[in-house]
Amino acid sequence: MPGVKPDINHLFGPDIHCIFVTQHIVMAVFSKGSKFYSIFKMRCPRCQEGDFFKSHPYNLKKAGDIYKNCPKCDLKYSPEPGFYFGALFVSYALGVALFVTFWVAFNLFFEDMAVGLQILIIVIASIVTAPYFYSLSKIIWANLFIKADSDLISSQKKD
Ligand SMILES: [Zn+2]
Repeated sequence: MPGVKPDINHLFGPDIHCIFVTQHIVMAVFSKGSKFYSIFKMRCPRCQEGDFFKSHPYNLKKAGDIYKNCPKCDLKYSPEPGFYFGALFVSYALGVALFVTFWVAFNLFFEDMAVGLQILIIVIASIVTAPYFYSLSKIIWANLFIKADSDLISSQKKD
């Protein structure tokens, strides 16, 4: 039809309301009280204040070492012996997600890239992300079983 152009600018242009709403959702998802807050800040799943790990994931000597108890609310981080074996499944899922992300990106944007190079890049990415994913899988696993305590979180907000 002449004269009827799809208004792409309206759909994809910088729409301030859209940005505002997206920002609002992102802030809500990652704000205190959300499991994402505990996971990405690597804080206690219950009070979201105390540190979960003894050190940074890339401090390889102590990578993934967890405190026995939360330094703030004294929550026992390992409810039972071998609790964190289950984190292996999370780690596996993260590895698969990484592989799929790269595989889709290669197929969409770098179709002509040699398969050997694709494999090399994925292997390097897996090695580089391994310490982070190892820690991440533990804190995700803990968050699957330990509920955030809104009373603890809201009482700390007032401080
Ligand atoms: Zn705590």
